[in-house]
Amino acid sequence: MNAQTMNSSICPECEGVLHLPADLMEGEIVPCGDCGAELEVLSLTPAGAGPCS
Ligand SMILES: [Zn+2]
Repeated sequence: MNAQTMNSSICPECEGVLHLPADLMEGEIVPCGDCGAELEVLSLTPAGAGPCS
């Protein structure tokens, strides 16, 4: 069994991998660890994020 404790998504700014916490809330702002862009969580299943501006 492979318990999913982390979601991941692709940063739309730099195409780096975003690691999202398991307790992520829709609409939450998460910073990209690679380029520093602030991304709004658009959906959880599957995890998706986009620029919040
Ligand atoms: Zn990025």
